[in-house]
Amino acid sequence: MDEQGNLTVDDYVPGWAERIAEAQTQTHVEIDGKLYPRRRYGSDHPDSVALQPRCGDCGVELGQLRVPTCCVERCPRCDGQAITCRCPEARLVVSQ
Ligand SMILES: [Zn+2]
Ligand SMILES: [Zn+2]
Repeated sequence: MDEQGNLTVDDYVPGWAERIAEAQTQTHVEIDGKLYPRRRYGSDHPDSVALQPRCGDCGVELGQLRVPTCCVERCPRCDGQAITCRCPEARLVVSQ
């Protein structure tokens, strides 16, 4: 928590801020030999009226790339839930 008593990302899991920072470098995923850009929080659920300043699952801010284990991340290939969809395994690609 910060001085005002607000939740910060480190209240999710110790060291989580580093996971979020790492996720921002993982801009693409490779699925079945094709490269897909990852979705950013906010742009992947544009019809949602309940967007919070931070993702309730992984804690990223609007416009940031989600932490790859986030349960509301959408698969860029099939638009399904990324962690449960039937696509071949996605390989994270770090942009240089
Ligand atoms: Zn999330
Ligand atoms: Zn998929």
